[in-house]
Amino acid sequence: MSVRNALKAGRIPALAGLGALVLLAACGQEGIERAGDPGFAAVDTARISTASAAEEWLTYGGTYDEQRHSRLTAINTENVGELGVAWTYDLATNRGVESTPIVVDGVMYVTSAWSVVYALDAKTGAEKWVYDPDVDRAVGVKACCDVVNRGVAVYDGKIFVGVIDGRLEALDAQTGKVVWSKVTVDQSKPYTITGAPRVANGKVLIGNGGAELGVRGYLSAYDASTGDLVWRFYTVPNPEKQPDNAASDEAFVRVGNVTWGDEGAWVTDGGGGTVWDSIVYDEANGQIIFGVGNGSPWNRTFRDPAGGDNLFLSSIVAVDAETGAYKWHFQTTPGDNWDYTATQTIILADLPLGEYGATRRVVMQAPKNGFFYVLDARTGQFLSGDAFVPVNWATGLDRTGRPIEVPEARYSRQPFEQTPGPLGAHNWHPMAFSPQTGLAYIPAQEIPQAYAEDPRFTSRPVGWNTGVDFSAGIPPIAPPEVVRFLRSTLKGRLIAWDPVARQPRWTVEHDNAWNGGILSTAGGLVFQGKLGGEFAAYNAATGEKLWSHDLKSGGASGPGTYMIDGEQYVAITTGWGSAFALAAGFAFDVAVSPTVGKVVTFKIGGTAQIADAGLTPVDATPKAESFGNLAMISQGAVHYSRNCMVCHGPLAVSSGVLPDLRWSAITGNREAWKGVVMDGNLAANGMVGFSEFVTPDESEAIRAYVLAQAHAATGNGSSGGEP
Ligand code: CA
Repeated sequence: MSVRNALKAGRIPALAGLGALVLLAACGQEGIERAGDPGFAAVDTARISTASAAEEWLTYGGTYDEQRHSRLTAINTENVGELGVAWTYDLATNRGVESTPIVVDGVMYVTSAWSVVYALDAKTGAEKWVYDPDVDRAVGVKACCDVVNRGVAVYDGKIFVGVIDGRLEALDAQTGKVVWSKVTVDQSKPYTITGAPRVANGKVLIGNGGAELGVRGYLSAYDASTGDLVWRFYTVPNPEKQPDNAASDEAFVRVGNVTWGDEGAWVTDGGGGTVWDSIVYDEANGQIIFGVGNGSPWNRTFRDPAGGDNLFLSSIVAVDAETGAYKWHFQTTPGDNWDYTATQTIILADLPLGEYGATRRVVMQAPKNGFFYVLDARTGQFLSGDAFVPVNWATGLDRTGRPIEVPEARYSRQPFEQTPGPLGAHNWHPMAFSPQTGLAYIPAQEIPQAYAEDPRFTSRPVGWNTGVDFSAGIPPIAPPEVVRFLRSTLKGRLIAWDPVARQPRWTVEHDNAWNGGILSTAGGLVFQGKLGGEFAAYNAATGEKLWSHDLKSGGASGPGTYMIDGEQYVAITTGWGSAFALAAGFAFDVAVSPTVGKVVTFKIGGTAQIADAGLTPVDATPKAESFGNLAMISQGAVHYSRNCMVCHGPLAVSSGVLPDLRWSAITGNREAWKGVVMDGNLAANGMVGFSEFVTPDESEAIRAYVLAQAHAATGNGSSGGEP
């Protein structure tokens, strides 16, 4: 450990530290960096270690244990009421922003939509450099949940970013210049990267996304210096169940292959199992623990008619950190059928679970399926699992942790209204854990979904391939009361979960389902934003709200905190977009809210202002008369839900991130509509042509449906109108 790091960790007596600083100061400002460390941002494994990191935010989850708990106490329950804005920085996007700021050597590194990286002075917000990977906007159609990015990693003077088109890139931390760039996926397939890389012992760990569309998931480790691939662990066997010459080969022979049949859509669609978020380095056990996503397609009947558990879908998996060799797994949702990813925040902690208060090192996760799991970190042994939201797809877990399913949850063409739905009881919003209170802080949500088998299912190269009929249970024309009812089914809350007592200690009910990531601090505080814009601090022990501020944008990201020159800062990236805003525009009263993404930092006594977002007023009037009979509009509803809904919103109601088709001028013009929908006239904006997947008649039916929804929303012609 360097003098600099030892000082930060409090391992050198103050006098020795002062002396070292005086010596360094003689070398000048530049010399401080050079003399104490081999270089700028000279981060290594010891510096990120949970045992040493304190005043900086060096990895996505704060430290390797990913507790998102800071030891800083300068902002605390006594003075948090004096928190004000220190500075803001405009990220110049109206797309989703999910980045946790990384702070090292006084510089903050954040990402924005389209994987753009910003380096800012962490004290002032002054821009140091911007790196734009210049992604082809047509890639946007591969992104299930907006073109988001959750942040960078820092190691050995380099910044690592996963790019939405599948690149992993190393940038010089001082200049932003590309040091190396590797394509980590088959770019002919619908892979994306939205997650933050992690770096441990000189290896950069990165997964990918795309399981809604159809890919085969894996986790890769690249050499941080050279960009060479060191190992790769696939989460699904190849269709022949033959060795890949990869780290996962042995795992499939031992436990994986037998859980897959020989036929079904997984053979062509890759089976899914993408590692799109949580990747944790377990220093104590020398292993990487990562969360695996849902199946491709979702519906197991189509994916694998043999009906097996389909390892390692929806699992927590541990592999050797050096070689990627399999160590253990725990499958949260065997035979996933519902997009129940186990990619959510994985936290490592020592809990007093042993006799006479002895601690046990555990893995905690609150995945989409609604159960909070505690596993032994060394062996993966199931210790406990309890529902943290209302769950109706299973009555509980058996003593091995396997869900006791309700038969109806294996849906047929008859819809089953299920909770949690595919957006999960918890999504990507980071959970936190405080070793002081012993509580895990979960951004929990209730977003039910009617699942039904899609009778028209065939795998397609563009768009979602789930085998689920999203139009099931939704009326073809949705008057305002239907929208109000759907909205009333959405709930969100911050849950302070006691993993030893296996129950909530306290909860805070929110006015919207999609509530933001959590920061816990030794100042006795829990910080959380909301998509509606409120950023609040709660008493970590009681849940009492002690402070809040209007972000004037969505506050969904994981906040971070750091100390510079004796002042503690709290930072959050803001924006709209992401899966919920695309999927649940009907949940918001805003006509359109493309609020500009920002970095917003707070400190005690801060007096800066957050600029108004500059909302674009939208002309919410239908641009043409309704046309088509009810049969045509109903057909349009089906084809809309298959082709358009995941980006433009259920019921054709957009949250404003992507165009609200109801108010689009092209709805009134048959040729203009065809030019965009069929011929791809707006492909450069990410709207590719759908002529391979939609017939001209179906395209017209979608236009009729969208116009009917426009008139229904404005109270005109809710019958849809006869021709
Ligand atoms: Ca998914």
